Amino acid sequence: MDFTDVRKMVVGDLWFNSKAYEHTEYVVDHFGNRFMGTESERQAKDYILELFKASGLENPHEESYRYHGWKRGPCTVKMLSPVQREIWAFAHAHSASTPAGGIQAQVIDLGKGVKQDFEAKAGQVKGKIAMVTTGWYPGQSYFIGHRTGKHGWARDFGAVGLIIRNETPGGLIEAGTIATGYRKSGDIPVVAVSFETGAFIERQLQKGPVTVSIDMRNEVVPNAVGWNVVGDIRGTKYPERKILVGAHFDGHDIGQEAASDDLLGAMVMLDVARTLANFKGKFLRTMQFVAFGNEECWAVGSTNYVAHHESDIKNIDVMINGDGLGRYPEPFVSVNNPSGLCAPLSKLVKAWKIDAAVGFTDGRNPAWCSTSDNHPFAMQGIPTVQIGGRKRASAVGTTGRGAALRDHTICDTMDKIDRHLVKQYAVVLAELMMALAQTDEPLIRHSTKEEVLEAVTQCGYIDALKAQGRWHPESIL
Ligand SMILES: [Zn+2]
Repeated sequence: MDFTDVRKMVVGDLWFNSKAYEHTEYVVDHFGNRFMGTESERQAKDYILELFKASGLENPHEESYRYHGWKRGPCTVKMLSPVQREIWAFAHAHSASTPAGGIQAQVIDLGKGVKQDFEAKAGQVKGKIAMVTTGWYPGQSYFIGHRTGKHGWARDFGAVGLIIRNETPGGLIEAGTIATGYRKSGDIPVVAVSFETGAFIERQLQKGPVTVSIDMRNEVVPNAVGWNVVGDIRGTKYPERKILVGAHFDGHDIGQEAASDDLLGAMVMLDVARTLANFKGKFLRTMQFVAFGNEECWAVGSTNYVAHHESDIKNIDVMINGDGLGRYPEPFVSVNNPSGLCAPLSKLVKAWKIDAAVGFTDGRNPAWCSTSDNHPFAMQGIPTVQIGGRKRASAVGTTGRGAALRDHTICDTMDKIDRHLVKQYAVVLAELMMALAQTDEPLIRHSTKEEVLEAVTQCGYIDALKAQGRWHPESIL
């Protein structure tokens, strides 16, 4: 049997025996959204570990780790003047609590709330509640406009609280995490509101000063336990070399399902694992499959994976982040690090006739920085890519995660999942893994620490990482 036959059987099996939708449905129906520290998360992990075992992977096991957990408590936000009204809002995960009795302060509108917006009104922020949107400016990358940076800038410029307004109309509130949960919780209270609630506040601001109160109690859970689930298909010729694919199974707790971010991705990955495991002994390199925990609070499982596998990560030829598998149309392999990976990977994908585009998310160099599970790998110089869909933005055409009207909102539900797309992604991932596993030479060497530092400096990432509390090049944890 030559390798073309293997490919045909793999693709056929993925198309006919797809289970990703059913497994995703089972987990959201029976266990819910898998938010950090919940019974739901533990039940989903147990279920996924059983799937790893049933899929024929070698050495299926869980790896536990400790992290800085957080529990949502009551949150009340009110406008006190010029009119009195309760404001519909949620705490962002890892938000600090207010002192007992809450805080009251004037609101200052800082537009999109990236660093330049804070700098433009530097003298006016102190003691106020800053209001920003979920967006960023044309030409900027997602990581520059990430809410963790906005939380950091709000704190650094002296704001006592932060309101993050969805940039996309539609009444939805976008959830998110505002601190690096593997290390610490947030420093100031941060709430999320819909576009429309933000418009109401903005309208009052046009008439004069606006005072808002925030009263919230959240609980920090030191030494929380989380899990990654890991399994392998051993390579025959280069068993020590690895193609690693990971997808996170946890979700945000706004809404019951968090179905496609990224439980669906984990289940697409499992479809691929089950199918490729039928062909053990055919692959030159080892393939490793990881269902990461606690990505949403923030890349905690993957950060711990990297920290606990220090001696072993040098063997990873490519890390594929599957946060986005099956979610949006037009599969796209975005190259994160290093930018030099783009050319040989495009060539390989073309040679194998894999039905996916390869490139940089924002279409330009360098674009390797990211805020998901590829980040800790990229920071160690490991070549990393992420698979997602190119057609993500809604017709509204705004930026921010809310632009998709799905991720991190109550609308991330099963009815959005396109079963045809799920199979398409499974085929793309399986073929990409096979192509990478069968090359005799790695596509590109690991970056050195100096090269990583230079790349993050060049693209302005260091500033954002510092504001995010994620700049500690001396260590991972
Ligand atoms: Zn995700």
